[in-house]
Amino acid sequence: MMTMLLLFFGTMALSLYASWKVRSAYNRYSQVPASSGYTGAEVAQRILDLNGIRDVSIHSTHGHLTDHYDPSNRRLVLSEENYHGTSVAALGIAAHECGHAIQHQQLYAPLKWRMAAVGITGIASQIVMWVPLIGLFGGFFPYKLAITIMAVSFGILMLFQLVTLPVEFDATARAKKVLAGTGAVAAGTEFKAMSKVLDAAALTYVAAFVSTLGYFLYYLLQMTGMRGNDE
Ligand SMILES: [Zn+2]
Repeated sequence: MMTMLLLFFGTMALSLYASWKVRSAYNRYSQVPASSGYTGAEVAQRILDLNGIRDVSIHSTHGHLTDHYDPSNRRLVLSEENYHGTSVAALGIAAHECGHAIQHQQLYAPLKWRMAAVGITGIASQIVMWVPLIGLFGGFFPYKLAITIMAVSFGILMLFQLVTLPVEFDATARAKKVLAGTGAVAAGTEFKAMSKVLDAAALTYVAAFVSTLGYFLYYLLQMTGMRGNDE
């Protein structure tokens, strides 16, 4: 029970810290304009053009940090503040999302694995939410079966977060390279500020991986009966 509480509060603290870090970096560096004067949408269009990508459309959407690349519809979606914004944070995020579009065009293997795993990951995340609740109230499952289901589901979630890491780090590396190469973000202070935003965002994916790894190991140890005597 102690282990579970430690795991629960530890992973929660980690994910709160990571999201605080990305928000504070973003709030700070979305106030720092890039001297190139490009908007996020302009930079995104330029990067797509440079890579000969013509089948990806750029859109703006509501919300804060809602930026993403949607591979099934080939849409690059930027939040309004990054679509219209000229800050180093806006350009960094726009270029990062282009990184995913380039990965898709080049059939980058970890992105393919990630796309293939989306469906089963959705099911696994439902299972880890419902099985403990049902077990708590109904006791419908034998304990061992419930633990096994939880271990397998967290194993799937952990693998998904694991393949997400190269996808995210690669998109950020591509973003930094193209922004520096095209001069959209000036070397020195601007580049450093842009990097802080993208590196903070990458940290949230590391936090998500560590959390699911923690839960996976917990249930795996329960399953193999190697748990300590802190029951
Ligand atoms: Zn990303």
